[in-house]
Amino acid sequence: MPGDLRDRPETLAAQALGWVEPTTRSVVPVIYPSTTYERAADGSYPGGHTYTRDQNPTYDQAEALLNRLEGGEGALLFASGMAAATTVLETLDAGDHVVAPEQMYWTIQRWLEELAGRGRIALDLVPNGDLGALEAALRPGRTKIVWIETPANPGTAITDIEAAADAAHAAGARLVADGTLATPVLCRPIAHGADLVVHSATKQLNGHADVLAGAVVAARRDGFWERIAHDRGYRGAVLGPFETWLLLRGMRTLFLRVPRSAESAMRIAERLASHPAVLAVHYPGLPSHPGHAVAARQMSGGFGMLVSFRPRGGAAAAKRVAGSLRLFRNATSLGGVESLVEHRAPVEGPGTRVPDDLLRLSIGIEAVDDLLADLDRALAAGPAE
Ligand code: PLP
Repeated sequence: MPGDLRDRPETLAAQALGWVEPTTRSVVPVIYPSTTYERAADGSYPGGHTYTRDQNPTYDQAEALLNRLEGGEGALLFASGMAAATTVLETLDAGDHVVAPEQMYWTIQRWLEELAGRGRIALDLVPNGDLGALEAALRPGRTKIVWIETPANPGTAITDIEAAADAAHAAGARLVADGTLATPVLCRPIAHGADLVVHSATKQLNGHADVLAGAVVAARRDGFWERIAHDRGYRGAVLGPFETWLLLRGMRTLFLRVPRSAESAMRIAERLASHPAVLAVHYPGLPSHPGHAVAARQMSGGFGMLVSFRPRGGAAAAKRVAGSLRLFRNATSLGGVESLVEHRAPVEGPGTRVPDDLLRLSIGIEAVDDLLADLDRALAAGPAE
């Protein structure tokens, strides 16, 4: 295996750890479609792989790269971010208690609420970034998982990872951080005390909006990790080798895409913050953001690709702006090279905690002046009828 694995993350990502396929010396990662692997005459598996439900050399390289980038001791890919998250939650025993934030990716929150509704777990949702509320919600010995997401989707709320980890650990719980919006380029939660990082790799890790994928990276290979790995192997919510290869290809340009999107997002947030047709902007890079100081401490190289804002004129104005942007595609998801806009509350439906006029922007890698012009034009189009 060539290359010094102490190389900088940019180098590790660009070269996909520098792995070269041993037979052909192929420099580009190889796809291994085989579902099964041959035994030796003595019954052993000299290739180190048995069956593809949890073992495939294509997974090995992508997992090893993500693990290195996150500074973990093990990474596992899943068929989606939801498959990763629900497998982590599957480690909970009946009656275990979970603390999660009020603002987080809604389907994971709904899943937690469903588990609580069925009596499987006890659940407390606390305001993001409110350490006092988090500490008050903890039930020492019974709380097993403290779930955080920073920045959070869709309002970009920030949580102090180290403070949350200290509080969780003092109560005997584990801290699970959804790192989707930051990616390891901007924030590595394990370095701040998280026990586990969860990703929707569908977003910026892959970056091209053409793969559904999830991942879990662990700070330690302990019993918690073993249980997650065991579950993945049994339930088979794995990523296929072709999707894994696409994800690996996407990750090789991570260090170009993420800073570029974050830089543009900062410019767009600044413009929106001074725009007369805008009521509020949520972006952790803005000094006015309540989590700015914490974000500046625990993130480096930018504040992410997600900007949310509320145009003046309420839900009708939000709908009109989303519909009249031309470069921003009016579509769900985030983290691709193309910019997207979404009027969020109607997507989440009844019971959403998101303001009904909130627009979520995912900033891609287009020329930022084109994106600014698109926003200016859509916002100047006048009040909703
Ligand atoms: N976590 C966050 C922050 C997300 O935004 C999403 C999806 O939007 C998920 C998890 C779920 O990931 P997936 O859509 O890959 O299942």
